[in-house]
Amino acid sequence: MIKAKAYAAQSSTSPLAPFQLERRSPNPNDVVIQIAYCGICHSDIHTARGEWGPTDYPCVPGHEIVGKVIQVGKKVKKFKVGDLAGVGCFVDSCGKCSPCKSHEEQFCENHAVYTYASTELDGKTRTFGGYSTHITVKDKYVLKVKKGLPLERVAPLLCAGITTYSPLKRYGTKKGKKVGVVGLGGLGHMAVKLAKAMGAEVTVFSTSPDKQADAKRLGAKNFLITKDPKNFSNYAGKLDLIIDTVSAEHDFAPYLSTLKIGGIMVLVGVPPESSKLRSTSLIGGRKHLAGSLIGGIKETQEMLDFCARKKVFSDIELIPAEKINEAYERTIKGQVKYRFVIDAETF
Ligand code: NAP
Ligand code: ZN
Ligand code: ZN
Repeated sequence: MIKAKAYAAQSSTSPLAPFQLERRSPNPNDVVIQIAYCGICHSDIHTARGEWGPTDYPCVPGHEIVGKVIQVGKKVKKFKVGDLAGVGCFVDSCGKCSPCKSHEEQFCENHAVYTYASTELDGKTRTFGGYSTHITVKDKYVLKVKKGLPLERVAPLLCAGITTYSPLKRYGTKKGKKVGVVGLGGLGHMAVKLAKAMGAEVTVFSTSPDKQADAKRLGAKNFLITKDPKNFSNYAGKLDLIIDTVSAEHDFAPYLSTLKIGGIMVLVGVPPESSKLRSTSLIGGRKHLAGSLIGGIKETQEMLDFCARKKVFSDIELIPAEKINEAYERTIKGQVKYRFVIDAETF
């Protein structure tokens, strides 16, 4: 067993506090990672606070993990001690079903093992996430991270990066395409950077006027404040694709109105509440409303390599563990520029 320090929520209403964990010693296919950095995703907040339904406590969130391999099991070939490694939103899956075989382990039909608040394939051993000093993971589910990159800025790619890269790529983002991004937070700012790196013209929809200069710096051509309905009517029928990252309930109709005929709006934000949708928002213009969930291991590796090549990294604020609760409050208020990342040396 490897003793690890961590931060955990003990209930949906208690702040996160120091917690001790034991990570398993490596099985033949495992690697043990000493965590260097872990990003704070809004999903961590939804889960720690039980906003998506009951959570098992204690809950140690965190699925944007980078660190160094410090032990490897006997059969591990993919990593050696000293290599840099990343862990995203899941750490195991059945490996046998059709989605697993087609590199979409996130849709495993039997049991996708999420990095935290989930159980291992045995159905009972609970998983604890990256707000901690160490983690043990099967090598197949660990990503390779190149040396020489700003690691604290790489960590958020493991969730915010892949969640936006996957739909941008799937729906053909390239030069000549017009892409809208709704919500300039952790996912949103990565969507802007990635869409721009793929060659698209980017338009940001935001509730925060003070983010305009940042949106331009991050690569957006246009910035629309969503409070003003005129901003939507001026943009009617202009966009090919929209990535909606908003974490709270909102009306889809005004965004759908900015799509071209046959345009696609992809929901990646997971508000706890349901949304209403009038079918006319889609029917007029034969529009598509879609969803997307992170990405498989193969695509996550492709995204990390793309980001290393294009020098696309997250804009972050590095915090010590004791500031996690404050970071949650600021994230909820949309006051994060643009991802909080925990320095694991401070646990
Ligand atoms: P975040 O950093 O908090 O960003 C969300 C942004 O949405 C905010 O910065 C804000 O941007 C906007 N927003 C917030 N409340 C709003 C409201 N009431 N109305 C309109 N806009 C609002 O969160 P995140 O980490 O990027 O995560 C976003 C969502 O994606 C969460 O629900 C998370 O659980 C989900 N998620 C999904 C996946 C997936 O695989 N599908 C993966 C990771 C996360 P402005 O200030 O610009 O308006
Ligand atoms: Zn996440
Ligand atoms: Zn499977």
